[in-house]
Amino acid sequence: MSAGEPTVAVVGGGLAGLAAACALSESGFRVTLFERRPYLGGRAASYEHPATGEVVDNCQHVLFGCCNNLIAFYKKIGTDKDIRWFDRMFFIEPGGRRSTLEPVRLPAPLHVTPSFLALNFLDAWDKISVSRALVSLFSRMPRDNGASFEDWLAQHGQTRNAIERFWKPILISALSESLDRIAVPYAAQVVRESMKAAGARSMGIPTVPLGELYKQAENYVCARSGVIRLRRGVDSFLPLETGVRLGAQGSEELFDYAVIAVPFDALGKLLPDGEESSRLREQISHFESSPITGIHLWFDRRISELPHAVLLDRTIQWMFHKSELLRKSAPSANGDDVPSYIEVVVSASKSLLQKSRQEILDLAMRELAEFFPQAREAKLLKATVIKEVNATFSPAPGIDRHRPSSPTPWPRVLLAGDWTATGWPATMEGAVRSGYLAAEEITRCAGKPRHFLVPDAKSEGLMRLLG
Ligand SMILES: Cc1cc2nc3c(=O)[nH]c(=O)nc-3n(C[C@H](O)[C@H](O)[C@H](O)COP(=O)(O)OP(=O)(O)OC[C@H]3O[C@@H](n4cnc5c(N)ncnc54)[C@H](O)[C@@H]3O)c2cc1C
Repeated sequence: MSAGEPTVAVVGGGLAGLAAACALSESGFRVTLFERRPYLGGRAASYEHPATGEVVDNCQHVLFGCCNNLIAFYKKIGTDKDIRWFDRMFFIEPGGRRSTLEPVRLPAPLHVTPSFLALNFLDAWDKISVSRALVSLFSRMPRDNGASFEDWLAQHGQTRNAIERFWKPILISALSESLDRIAVPYAAQVVRESMKAAGARSMGIPTVPLGELYKQAENYVCARSGVIRLRRGVDSFLPLETGVRLGAQGSEELFDYAVIAVPFDALGKLLPDGEESSRLREQISHFESSPITGIHLWFDRRISELPHAVLLDRTIQWMFHKSELLRKSAPSANGDDVPSYIEVVVSASKSLLQKSRQEILDLAMRELAEFFPQAREAKLLKATVIKEVNATFSPAPGIDRHRPSSPTPWPRVLLAGDWTATGWPATMEGAVRSGYLAAEEITRCAGKPRHFLVPDAKSEGLMRLLG
């Protein structure tokens, strides 16, 4: 135990650890954050890519207007100005035909009805079947009865087209898992959260590399007597009656509290021997992860004027026009002959795991040309493929029973991380929530309770009546 302000070790510098570190340092705790990598951000990070010499995000990360805690976190550290918001979502079919989903001034969820009815890639019967399913999801939160969302869609009479062109693009990118491995409540949550209010489905995209966002978090912690230790992996923790002993690269340190904000597989390696760890080990054994692949392409010219688009019916799922989205890039108003940087994303990318870099690039280039004819003429200047094999935990039926809450068998050790019991799937919002929950628990244990979690956005319009 320390004299003076209580000390907290935060293990892991992803969004969960950073949210906990910021909340605790502003509450008078002396925070030391341990991160084993040379940079912050964890699975939502940027770094200089050795082969291309470019600073790249490990993958495009987007948020939505319903991500209240993440947005509040960005505001706290002063990076909310680095997020650009989009109300319109573009869908492109192979061959190039486009549709746009955009809001009008009608109460939620009718605000997207006119553009939904105008979508080219669904026929009238597809739209009727989707509308029926949406009404069912809006009116009652389904329970996890062990069935997958694929089963649910079949039971609710969804057409093949509706599944392939509506449900898959929306849910596979939101939950990074195939429909047969998504529990019904997770799918329902995505739909309900994004439609509960007019701004809830606005998509936020950072205008700076992800690492620049966390520089502000580091400054926030350091300005409040905290310390960030990079390249400092923690090997073990030992809970004591009056504190926690942390082992990191051969040395040991004593803290009053510890927040262990690492992915589930990393926690398994840190748990102390003994009976008390057995329940957590058992819970961890139920988790599986799903991959996401980002394909980064630098062209000698523009291949599209769109900032982003959903790509239908092919392996590649999203196009992000990074050189339009990143603030430092010059606006490409001078025509198409300015270089451009495109990222193509494939969520739940199991089919790409065994493919070589060149095979993935060939596939992406071939498919991209089906959506953007200019890609056929463009010269590819450089490219890289980033496979995140363990990108997110699978939101499979039954998994909620195994997500641990923040308190552990040891009163001074708290868990955080997107995989813990936040009520949200593996997202930046879920990670920040978990960090705040752990921080709240520590302030309570220390006898100076604070509240960090931001309440959910309220339903608006007809959603108030339906939900
Ligand atoms: C490719 C990809 C795309 C994604 N897209 C989106 C998106 O668009 N929108 C969205 O909301 N979410 C997205 N996600 C999910 C989101 O990135 C994660 O849910 C979130 O970042 C998880 O944060 P975390 O802090 O819980 O875990 P992590 O980010 O994994 O952080 C854990 C940290 O702990 C560190 N660590 C591990 N072991 C130790 C140790 N022993 N000692 C010290 N440090 C340790 C790790 O290095 C890491 O930095 C995506 C994820 C990936 C991988």
